[in-house]
Amino acid sequence: METYGKILLIAMPAFLLLVLGETLYGAWKGKQTVRNLDMISSLSSGITNVTKDVLGLSIAIISYGWLVDKLALVHVQNSILTYIIAFIALDFAGYWVHRLDHEYNFFWNAHIIHHSSEDFNLACALRQSISVVFRIFTIFLLPAALLGVPPMVIAVVAPLHLFAQFWYHTQHINRMGFLEKIIVTPSHHRVHHAINPEYLDKNYGQIFIFWDKWFGTYQEELADKPPVYGITRPVQTWNPIKINFMHLWLMIKDAWHTKNWNDKFRIWIMPTGWRPADVAEKFPVHKINDVYHMQKYDTKASPSLHVWSWVQITMALLFISYLFGNIAPINTLNASYIYVYGLFVFLSVYAYTELMDRNKYAIVWEIIKNSLGIAIILQTGDWFGATALSPFIKYGVGAYFLLSTIVTLWFVMKHAKEDERVMAVA
Ligand SMILES: [Zn+2]
Ligand SMILES: [Zn+2]
Repeated sequence: METYGKILLIAMPAFLLLVLGETLYGAWKGKQTVRNLDMISSLSSGITNVTKDVLGLSIAIISYGWLVDKLALVHVQNSILTYIIAFIALDFAGYWVHRLDHEYNFFWNAHIIHHSSEDFNLACALRQSISVVFRIFTIFLLPAALLGVPPMVIAVVAPLHLFAQFWYHTQHINRMGFLEKIIVTPSHHRVHHAINPEYLDKNYGQIFIFWDKWFGTYQEELADKPPVYGITRPVQTWNPIKINFMHLWLMIKDAWHTKNWNDKFRIWIMPTGWRPADVAEKFPVHKINDVYHMQKYDTKASPSLHVWSWVQITMALLFISYLFGNIAPINTLNASYIYVYGLFVFLSVYAYTELMDRNKYAIVWEIIKNSLGIAIILQTGDWFGATALSPFIKYGVGAYFLLSTIVTLWFVMKHAKEDERVMAVA
């Protein structure tokens, strides 16, 4: 996790620059594909995902190392060939995991976040899951294990394979000639993110497109069917943490409410979106039927809220950068500190995205987050060892906690007044 933290310190600014670059390019071309609050929501989802990964908060039920130990038939010696095999094997596994994520109710919860944006741009790529605790899909790496690809090689290739899925989340690149036949291109992936009936559950490939052609899930982008992005049951929030558990929560409620005992069990393994008949009737869920007339989720936001949301996400990025660069020293202070830090990051994201949603409880979350922050400073007289860098950091961080509480309170009161006025007019 320390190495991954270091990799992210380089990768995060690079991704951020590309995301902002795409926004500027869109403005210059007169074809803007980015909405500010949606972009902040996407980046915030990325923050929660990398924090969770760096903290190592998921457990593989079968480890890849165990698979290789037990099952390797040969050991490919040539190192370049090993890396190529690892890449293709990861892509094969990626296709199937992705397909299961889409096709079954239980697994969809792990992937809903990636499709939750109703825009399609580079930032959307950063919407990645935090809801997986047990990883059961290592089994799809069986081909790599049989060929004896060492776990170290998988560990090196896996982040590269993941990062290589970033670039094609864009509407600014059209068809790419012969490459369309080999790799997943922006055009292929636009189809994947679209909810037009023709495009649903197509193009699961991650790097190579031939898996979709071989396994019957390929669909070309059609000139007369412009993709409409999102999910058919819109999430209607900017809060990535809520989105991550939304589908699971619906299934838990449905399993609880249904009178049919059989349905209580089979809901988990049914195709994505399936609900017991009695609860579907009693507690209907908003669903988009006509994709060409759908209204994208948006919240009324003043220029000051846009600016403030940027201040908040910048602070969150600075906080996680400090964490990722200092995992070992923080760990030597106290082994539980990194988890407290993780909790603080999650509370931060939760609080400011609730404010973006104009939810009045944003102030409650903000107070919880800032109280935790101030308690840490008062308890330890430090911000996770940052005093070693400069004695002023803890005062700066403390001042930010106070400011953040006051500004959020100001916004919540302002929103309440505005909403009152709207009610009065209506
Ligand atoms: Zn997907
Ligand atoms: Zn995608």
